[in-house]
Order: sequence, then C-alpha cells, then structure tokens
Amino acid sequence: MLPDFRLRQREYLLEISRAMSARLDLSSLLSLILKSATEIMAGQTGLITLRMPDGTYAPRASIGFPVQAVPLLEPLWQDLEDDAVSEKDISLRLAIASRAAGIPMRQVVALPMVIGEEKIGYIFIFRARGVAFSPNDTQVLRAFADQAAVAVHNARLYQQVSAERERLNAIIQNSGDGVMMINAYRIIQMWNKALTNMTGIPATEAIGQPCYEVLSLHSHEDRKIFHPQEDELYVEGIHHRADGLKTTLSINYAPQRNEDNEIIQYIANVRDVTRLREAEEMKRTLLSVISHELKTPVSIIKGYAGTLAREDADWDKKTLADGLSVIEEEADRLDRLITNLLEASRMQAGGFKIKESYLDLASMVQSVVRKLQATTDKHTITVDLPDDFPPIRGDHDRLREVLTNLIGNAIKYSPEGGTIAVHGTQGENNTVRLSIRDEGIGIPPADHERIFDRFYRVDNRLARQTPGTGLGLYLVKTVIEAHGGRAWVESIAGQGSTFWIELPAEA
Ligand code: ADP
Repeated sequence: MLPDFRLRQREYLLEISRAMSARLDLSSLLSLILKSATEIMAGQTGLITLRMPDGTYAPRASIGFPVQAVPLLEPLWQDLEDDAVSEKDISLRLAIASRAAGIPMRQVVALPMVIGEEKIGYIFIFRARGVAFSPNDTQVLRAFADQAAVAVHNARLYQQVSAERERLNAIIQNSGDGVMMINAYRIIQMWNKALTNMTGIPATEAIGQPCYEVLSLHSHEDRKIFHPQEDELYVEGIHHRADGLKTTLSINYAPQRNEDNEIIQYIANVRDVTRLREAEEMKRTLLSVISHELKTPVSIIKGYAGTLAREDADWDKKTLADGLSVIEEEADRLDRLITNLLEASRMQAGGFKIKESYLDLASMVQSVVRKLQATTDKHTITVDLPDDFPPIRGDHDRLREVLTNLIGNAIKYSPEGGTIAVHGTQGENNTVRLSIRDEGIGIPPADHERIFDRFYRVDNRLARQTPGTGLGLYLVKTVIEAHGGRAWVESIAGQGSTFWIELPAEA
C-alpha cells in the first residue's frame, strides 16, 4: 500500500498531466508546469529554461521572481550539462545568483526535460530556507519533468505548424495572382485578396459557394462557359463584375489527389488577362488596318502613274491634270494615314507633348473649312462663330488635325450630302465650344463612347465601304483632353450627328 500522501501526490500529478496535455499555447503551458512543480516541491520560486536552436538556454517562465531579476539568475543555467555539474558547483552558482538577484534561495533542484535523447530545457525549483530536497522529491520531479517535456514538445510543434500555416496563408493572401481553393464538389474553400480586387467579390460572399456560380465566365458571344472537368484544366472567359466592368479572366486548375488517386481539391490560379487580350486584338487590328488602308491609295497612285506614263499615249492637258490631282489626293490621304498611325502610337507610348501657342480658333476653322469644301460639291459647309470668339492656347498643327478629322468625318459619313454646320459658342467656366453638325447616317447610342476608342469603327455597311482606320476620333479625344478639354457626340442613328469639343479659353 502506498502511504496516503503519496496517493494524493499521484492523483494530483495525474490531474496536472491531463491539464498539461490540453494546453497548446506554450507560454500558458509553461506557467502551468512551473506553478504545479513549485507546489509539488513545496518551493517558493521557480524557473524554466528552454533550449534554443543555437544550443544555448533561455529563461521562458518564472514564478516568484520580479521580471527584472530573471536575467540575473543566468549563472544557474550557463553551461549547465546535467552530470558535469557537481552538487558543490550548483550550490555555489545558487549563492551567486541569489546574491545577484537579491532574493533568498538556499536549496535548488534542477531537472532536465528530455524527449528521447534530446534535452529541451530545465525546470528549477528553489526553496528560500533550510530543508534540502530529498531523493524522493527529485524522483517525483523527474517523473513530472518527463511529462512536462512531452507537453512542451507538443506545444512547440503546434506552434510551428500554426506559424507555417500562417506563413502559407500570408503567401496566398498576398499573392499578386488570384488564388482560390475549391473542394472536389467545386465549393470555394479559400479566396485571396487579389481575387477580391480582380472580381469585386469579397471572400465572405465567395467561400462556401460553388465556383461556377461565383466566378461565372462567358464567351465572347456571351455564352456561359462551364468550369472544366478533370481532363481540361484551363478556362478563359469574360467575367461581368457587379460594377458593370467586364474583365477577361483565365483560370488554371491544379488538382490535388489522395493516395487512391482521387481528387480531393483544386488550387486555381486566376489571372486578369484583359489587357493582354486587348493588346493582341489591337495588334491584329493594326495589321489589318495597315495592310488594307495603305494598300488602297498605293494601288490607285500606281495605277494612275502607270497610265499617265505610257509612252504610246498622248494625254491631253485636262486628263493629265485630273490624273495628277488624283495622285496628289491619294498621296495626301496616305500622308494623313501615316501621320495618324504615328501619332496614335506616340500617344499610346505616352511620349507625346503639345506645343502650346496663342491661337485664333476662328481663323483656323475658316481655313480648314475652305480646304475641305473644295473636296466636295455635295455638301455645304456653313460656319457660324461669334465676333468676340475668344482666343485659346494650344497646339496649332494638332488642333488643325482635330478639325480636319471632325469635318472630314461629317463629309465621309453623309453620303447623300447636305449641310454641315460648324458652330462656335462660349461655354461655361471660361471655355470655348465648337460643334460640327451633319445630316448623315448618325451613330447608334451604344457606340457613342466607343467610337473614340482606338481602331473602333461602327459596324454598318457604309463604314465598311468607307475607307478609315478608326483612329481619327481617338486622336481627337486624346488631343482635346491633353489641352484640358473634352470631346463628345450627340446623335441618333439615321438623323445625323453633332460632335462637340470644348477647350479652355485664354483668360
Ligand atoms: P474612321 O473614320 O477612320 O473609321 P474615326 O475614329 O474618325 O475613324 O471614326 C470612328 C467611327 O465613328 C467611324 O468608323 C464611324 O463609324 C463613326 N463616325 C465618326 N464620325 C461620324 C459621323 N460624323 N457620322 C457618323 N458616324 C461617324
């Protein structure tokens, strides 16, 4: 039979070991160990040191000492290797530490916490007065230290795993690419910040929902694209955001399998490829525009020049003059086209600057109108500008190009002819406004914004038959905005169009 107090001691130890194994937070576990050990050993103060990765020991918990006293106890654990330190040695160390810390400590028991072969730390218990620790005390503490070692080891492992998980989560959350994790049933388990930015959908709305509903993609013909089955793990399509923006997303699925080769989850990388696809489209359009639009004037010039140069023909003066003027016109067209292409690429590259000078817009309008009126007899161009039309500051050549493009379009897109009215007014906030109204084919409202985009042309029969690059209005808008102004259109399809530009007036 065990004596009564031993029985109680055992029960107490059992209780503590249960409590210890339930604690995963290292610092609260160490406090519990130390508190229990001090109680069992009837000590007044105590200390736990843990072995650091570099092999040294550092105090991690203490009881009964003021915080600032703990570092002063260092002689106790310095180079403390179990067997090498003699009883005498340890009493000496105790005396030094006690004096340094100014705390009475007469007796000490120091036991290593060991896992397998590895020492992970020490438990120190101190008594302030005489009674020495007995061999039984040491034995009890040794049993206790073994259990404490296991609990500390587990808590450290848990800490490592949590830190690892947090690190991984931080990598995924802060990745520049969109990342989502979906289970085998395609339910979203994780959704990172980049995805929220890309789609406008917060993680709280995405997690727990099927990915094909949250991130529904559409083809260019606006058919719904289904997220792929096991064999094809890439999709690309248009995502309609709640704020009305459309983005092209590509999704790459990496399946993860268990030992039985069954898919347990997918990690999906989502990229916003809108700009990339636009740039590709732009390149295709540019090539087709260049090849088509440059070819036409060149072949006309070549045809006329060849005909006029025939040695067997004796052209009269008028035929010669007509032919040469066609060549001149086509050469002009070619020149405009090349200028526009160069200007557009310069603007896109951001290397375009406006050369400002003092300008009389009224006389510039008159001069452009005179030049363009000479190219048509189906159209009548009228000009109505107030006498006190204020001067502006701006880039002469580019603004002339703007007017030429706008009035030129009014002619081009009024195949039946009619009146083209150029009207000038003073706008609000010290601005000047010009409007160019035609009686042509008009523009459907859905295209009012887009016609100012690069290479955009309204899709109708006339536009297909009319030469053009879709660059003119892009240049108009870019130049006007570079002057601090704005450009827009009012039009109803079939009822003509009115283009407006507004520029700051010179004060
Ligand atoms: P381009 O005339 O070379 O095609 P623009 O950028 O000048 O290019 O114009 C873009 C498109 O806007 C044209 O293709 C045409 O469909 C439409 N558009 C421009 N001006 C007019 C207008 N005055 N009336 C009707 N449509 C117009």
